[in-house]
Parts: sequence; C-alpha cells; structure tokens
Amino acid sequence: MAILEVECPICEEVLELTDEDRAELAVGDVIVCASCHSEMEVTRNGGGEDFELDLLSAMTTCPHCDEEFEVTPDMLAAAPATRSQDGAEVSLMTCPHCKVKFELELTEEQA
Ligand SMILES: [Zn+2]
Ligand SMILES: [Zn+2]
Repeated sequence: MAILEVECPICEEVLELTDEDRAELAVGDVIVCASCHSEMEVTRNGGGEDFELDLLSAMTTCPHCDEEFEVTPDMLAAAPATRSQDGAEVSLMTCPHCKVKFELELTEEQA
C-alpha cells in the first residue's frame, strides 16, 4: 500500500497517510498532528503525490482575560521562545485582547 508522508509544518513530525486514510479524506477535512496537535486542513487530495495541507491556526485561551484567540504561524514565529520552570520549551505569546504575556506550550507530549 502506498503511504504518503506529510511533514507537520509546526513540529516536523512526519505524518503517514495510507491510501485508505486518504480515501476517507475530502478537501476541507482537518488532520490533527499526533505530536503537537496542530490542525491542518486538506486543500488538495487528488491521488499520488497530489496532496496538500494548509495549517489551521490554533486557538488558545488567554489565562488572564479568558478571551479565546487564534495563534497564527506568524504569531508563533514572532513569539520569543523561552523555557518554563519545568524545562519545557514554550513560546511567549501576547494576548491581543489584554496584552498580557503568557507562556504557551506547544509540544505537550515528549517521545
Ligand atoms: Zn506537529
Ligand atoms: Zn488576555
């Protein structure tokens, strides 16, 4: 069986999609990365190598004002990386609502 390997744009985890998996996927469906839980929308699924994903923005909730907002790849790229007290790698996000800075952990699961 042919397996298509798709690299997660966030954590670079390789997601393997079998023909069977792809047969069940339609354009507009969402795949979730098993490693970092990023959501990707299927934008092409033609067969063979004709497959494309578009990263969906993750939603997060500000711990300060409780407003939910989108974390776009651009925001992540702009957010300074730091380490939390337990040594996990986190991004320092700024809430667009109340402007508070808080740590956002992206990779919860360690292999
Ligand atoms: Zn990932
Ligand atoms: Zn806030």
